[in-house]
Amino acid sequence: MMNNGLSNSLNSYCFYRDWKKEYPVAERGEGIYLFDKKGKRYIDGSGGPCVVNIGHGVKEIIEALRAQLDKLCFPFVGNFSSDAQIELGQKVIEFSPRTMSKVYFLSGGSEASETALKFVRQYHIERGDLSRTIFITRWKSYHGATLGALALSGHTKRRQDYLPYLIHFPHIHPPYCYRCDRGKNYPGCELECAHELERIIRLYGPDQIAAFITEPIIGNTAGVVIPPKEYWPIIRSICDRYGILLVADEVITGFGRTGRNFGVDQWDVFPDVIIAGKGISSGYTPLAGVIINEKMWDVFKNSKRSSFFLGYTFSGHPLACYGGVAVLKYMINENLVERSKRMGDYLLAKAETLGRLDSIGEVRGRGLLAGMEFVKDKRTKQPFERSKNFIEKVTSECFKNGLILTGGSGGADGVEGDHIIISPPFTVTESQIDDIIEILKGSILNTIDQM
Ligand code: PLP
Repeated sequence: MMNNGLSNSLNSYCFYRDWKKEYPVAERGEGIYLFDKKGKRYIDGSGGPCVVNIGHGVKEIIEALRAQLDKLCFPFVGNFSSDAQIELGQKVIEFSPRTMSKVYFLSGGSEASETALKFVRQYHIERGDLSRTIFITRWKSYHGATLGALALSGHTKRRQDYLPYLIHFPHIHPPYCYRCDRGKNYPGCELECAHELERIIRLYGPDQIAAFITEPIIGNTAGVVIPPKEYWPIIRSICDRYGILLVADEVITGFGRTGRNFGVDQWDVFPDVIIAGKGISSGYTPLAGVIINEKMWDVFKNSKRSSFFLGYTFSGHPLACYGGVAVLKYMINENLVERSKRMGDYLLAKAETLGRLDSIGEVRGRGLLAGMEFVKDKRTKQPFERSKNFIEKVTSECFKNGLILTGGSGGADGVEGDHIIISPPFTVTESQIDDIIEILKGSILNTIDQM
């Protein structure tokens, strides 16, 4: 079937995410821009979303991948290692917090969440701590679309249809000061949301708990929710007190997105496991990873056994890994993490100018990860009725105007609440940020006018 630059589930053999929507066919990328087959230019203000950290079409990466293609594409990881995997392992561990020790490579964030779950379980099994099976997680979180990862997630809407297939894990409330579940204010609240972890641990029994899993900064399920500075250190000390592993899902926040190498670096906290994805290869190849610390590696190293049921056919694929090597080299050479911080400060300042609009409740950001939460009533923080599809209208208006941004909903109560994420590639310039904010502002105002 031919396409005229537009494709949908009716005029092609593809089943698309939205099978009633028509998708422009993307043709090429350059810096922060994507171009479709009809020649329309889009600013990739979402970076993928939160994937394309170094920008589109970087020649160094394409050349490195070509060279790898010439050499080797597929030795099965059950039989071989590869130079690409070995080199990426070293690069990732050098880039990670100093306590991290080993990395297992995968093809996507959901696979990495599933695999982190297995690493945690296996760590406890190796130590003979067989009762530790429960993961504590948080509401308004996201760890992936596969059933284990979705069970770990706390986004009501995304879980709803699949509830019968999800194992039950206890969820605690996130550190979401704008909509505190207890109606308290920071710092008077004394971080009750962090101490809730300890209460849940004691209720279930500490010897039942395997790990606490969470995102350093909530990404697309609530629109960039940044915890107070005391949150992560409190969480780390609670986990230590009860022998519980701390898993940081850095699929969005990792690899420089928040202006530090990893999100946890914001608070100098050392997790036991890091789940990495998205920006690790900046989208040049499908790549993710589970990074474990020395404490866990020591247990595996000294175990009588030497393997567990781990991995997928394509795990550690050399082309995918070599994409990661080339991207990490480029990011370090070009000092892009520092740039993410600097341009992020500019982006936040510009985004805050929109905070004056009646429909914007709060603007938040760290590095090049900025979010805005929309409200119908600024004083009461009441969200728009979900049936109004506010955020879908804003993002499609942006798209029409040549700006790609990721919208989301469910931040307020799991279903209601609209937000948007602005997360362009780190190579973005100040004038490109001005363009993003200008188009976004026009799109918000147009949407409000039409409601
Ligand atoms: N974890 C977080 C925090 C995410 O935001 C996502 C995806 O958005 C995932 C895990 C799942 O990653 P993937 O979509 O690559 O499977």
